[in-house]
Amino acid sequence: MSSSVTEEAVETGITEGGNPSAFRDVLAKNHHARRKPPQHFVDMTKEERAAAMKELGLPAFRASQLSHHYFAHMTTNPEDFTDIPAAKRDELANRFFPTLITPLLVQTADAGTTVKTLWELFDGSRIESVLMRYPNRTTLCISSQVGCGMGCPFCATGKLGLTRNMSTGEILEQVRAAAVAMRDGQVAGGPGRLSNIVFMGMGEPMANYKSVLSAVRQISALPPAGFGISARNITVSTVGVVPGIKKLTMEGIPLRLAVSLHAPTNQLRDELVPMNRRFNVDQVLDAAHDYYLASKRRVSIEYALMRGINDQAEHAHELAKRLNHYGDDWVHVNPIPLNPIEGSRWTASKKEDEQAFIEILHRAGIAATMRDTRGDEIDGACGQLAAKSLVTNPSQPLATVTNR
Ligand code: SAH
Ligand code: SF4
Repeated sequence: MSSSVTEEAVETGITEGGNPSAFRDVLAKNHHARRKPPQHFVDMTKEERAAAMKELGLPAFRASQLSHHYFAHMTTNPEDFTDIPAAKRDELANRFFPTLITPLLVQTADAGTTVKTLWELFDGSRIESVLMRYPNRTTLCISSQVGCGMGCPFCATGKLGLTRNMSTGEILEQVRAAAVAMRDGQVAGGPGRLSNIVFMGMGEPMANYKSVLSAVRQISALPPAGFGISARNITVSTVGVVPGIKKLTMEGIPLRLAVSLHAPTNQLRDELVPMNRRFNVDQVLDAAHDYYLASKRRVSIEYALMRGINDQAEHAHELAKRLNHYGDDWVHVNPIPLNPIEGSRWTASKKEDEQAFIEILHRAGIAATMRDTRGDEIDGACGQLAAKSLVTNPSQPLATVTNR
């Protein structure tokens, strides 16, 4: 990275095309003071891996072998490193594959095809990921931050505030764990393949841009450089951090972009999504439409339906008008039934209002499908990931709870 890049830019990864100062106050105040997670193989550049190998007295090609073990075989166990001198295996595993996430609790629902895992990170922070197996795909919803600083009042993660950004290693380890569970037949339905990733767990991905993008690249690269999950099957969901959307547009990666709109007017969105006061509905939709033009990928508009707040016919008409202003066929609206969170004054819409909302969009020529709310009985549905302390005895790290 060039020396002209500012400190904020290094922190957020927002460089040319974005506006680093726009991010300054969405990071935790004491963010810089926090200890960083141990450096992992996937946090390192090729040069850094080679230099670290040299320090251990090993040639650079050993890094390629580790890449193979991590991404192709999805193992970090030194006993599997059979192509590496036995005397060096433990040292390599310790240096390059520190344990970054440890399961505290695994909960299942939907006959074992929805699996939520509560993870503990190196500093005791807790995050969650949710695996959802469908007949023709398996999707993992992952976290990118510990908590979230965006303060959406209806969101459980928002209530926690932001503790810190997660490293690329911490993000990728959620993916590896799920990919292994699928490969090894640990999820109901037998062996299979993890096919889709959504950044819809805890956190705002655009506020941790650099680590998220590095994770995206390594999730999508073909083995042995990555897990080989097509970028087309990866969704990054944002509350509408416009500089992040612009930067992503310039990356030219065929990701799916999801924008959490939740309201068609600034007056209402200011209330539901505090970030709207920085980047309003027009700015967010302009950026989303530019993303569509550049990527040719339909943008998803997330819209949590809240009873009597944003779920009336007038809101659907206004939303349709705003979206159609940009032309046809560029968006797909995903109304989400609100998952009410404890102590929140918002509740889910009535079924007939949900139906009417979707019908108005359809009549206006807009693709819209109600989002599936799998896992809501284990608080695994999006927006409910708040890493409640469910385990009281940490000496028994892995508990399994089945809800059905
Ligand atoms: N921070 C990002 C991604 C994580 S949230 C974002 O906001 O887009 C993933 C999705 O869950 C978002 O669309 C978010 O608005 C939605 N969500 C949050 N709380 C919710 C709740 N209580 N019920 C339903 N959806 C919720
Ligand atoms: Fe953060 Fe997204 Fe929750 Fe808003 S909805 S508080 S941006 S995780």
